[in-house]
Amino acid sequence: MDQNRRSLPGEAHQAAHACNEVLSILSDVNTNRRNCPSSLDILLVGFGNFGQFIAKYLRKFHTLHCSNREDTSAEAALLGCEYTTLDDLYKMSSINCDVILVSVSIISFEEVLSKIPKEMLKGKLVVDVLSVKMHARDTMLALLPPECDILCTHPMFGPESGKFGWQGLRFMFDKVRISDEDRCESFLSVFYQEGCEVIEMSCDEHDLLSANSQFITHLIGRSLAAMDLKSTLIDTQGFGILLELVRNTTNNSYDLFYGLLEYNIHSKSIIRKLKEGIEKVENHLEKKQIEISSVSSLEPMS
Ligand code: NAP
Repeated sequence: MDQNRRSLPGEAHQAAHACNEVLSILSDVNTNRRNCPSSLDILLVGFGNFGQFIAKYLRKFHTLHCSNREDTSAEAALLGCEYTTLDDLYKMSSINCDVILVSVSIISFEEVLSKIPKEMLKGKLVVDVLSVKMHARDTMLALLPPECDILCTHPMFGPESGKFGWQGLRFMFDKVRISDEDRCESFLSVFYQEGCEVIEMSCDEHDLLSANSQFITHLIGRSLAAMDLKSTLIDTQGFGILLELVRNTTNNSYDLFYGLLEYNIHSKSIIRKLKEGIEKVENHLEKKQIEISSVSSLEPMS
C-alpha cells in the first residue's frame, strides 16, 4: 500500500464517491448526445458549392430549409429541402427553425447578416462555416441580437476532399456564445457521427494555424495554376501531386481565395515568407554554382 495515501474519513469518502458518480453520468450524457443527435430544423443561408455539399450530410439527421441569392431551387428540390430566395428571406419577419447556418462567401458575410431581419434571428443558434474565424466571430458579435447563440465552425474539408465521406477529416468549432448547450451539441453531433476529428479551438488560434496551412496551400495551388502547368508523358508522382493541388484549389471560387487573404490578419505575411523562401533557395543555388566553378576547370552550364 502507498504510504503517503491517507484514508478519507467516512463522510468525505461518501461525498467523493457521489461526486465520481455524477461525473460519470455527465460524461455518459455527453457521449450519448454526440451519438444520438436530436433532429433540428435548420435554415441554410448560402446554398452554393459548399452549402449544397454540407446539406447532403445534414439532411440525414435534420430538416433543412435552404436559401440562396441565385436560383438554386432545383438543387434544393433534389435534396428534398424547402427553398426560399434570399431576397424573399430578407422580407420575412420570422421563420420556424432552431438553427440558422450561414454558408455564404467570406466577402458577403457581413452584408448577408446585416440584411437578415433581427426578429428572425432572435432565440436561434446562428452558426457559420467561414474559412476565416476572427472575422466571422467579430461580425456576428457586432450584428446579431444578444438573444441568439453563436457558434463558429470550420469544416477543414470541402466537396473535393470530402467527396468519399467525412471519416477522419477535421472539424473545428468555437462556442462563442451558447446558452442552449443541448441544441448546440445536437448540431455538432453530425460531425461526430460522420467520423470527423472534432477540435474545439479559439477563432484566434484557428486563423494563425490556418494561414500557415490552408492559405499557403491555396497560394501555392493558385501560383502553380498561373504557370499553366501541363501533364507530360513522363510525369513523376510528385508532379502528379502538384497537378492535383492545382485542380483542388482552383475548383474553389476566387472569392474564397480572396477572402482567405483579406480576412485573415496572418495571411499577408505568408506571401512575404514564401517569396523569402524562394529567394533563400536561389541564393543557395548561386553559392553552390560558385563553389563548383571554383574547383572545376569547366565552365558551369548557363
Ligand atoms: P464561396 O464563393 O465562398 O461562396 C459561395 C456562396 O456565397 C454562394 O451561396 C453565393 O451565392 C453566396 N454569395 C456570394 N456573394 C453573395 C452576396 N453578395 N449575397 C448573398 N450571397 C452571396 O464558395 P463556397 O465554396 O460555396 O463557400 C461557402 C462558404 O463555406 C465560405 O464562407 C467558405 O469559406 C466556407 N467553406 C468552404 C469550403 C470549401 O471547400 N469550398 C470548406 C469549408 C468552408 P450565389 O450562388 O447566389 O452566388
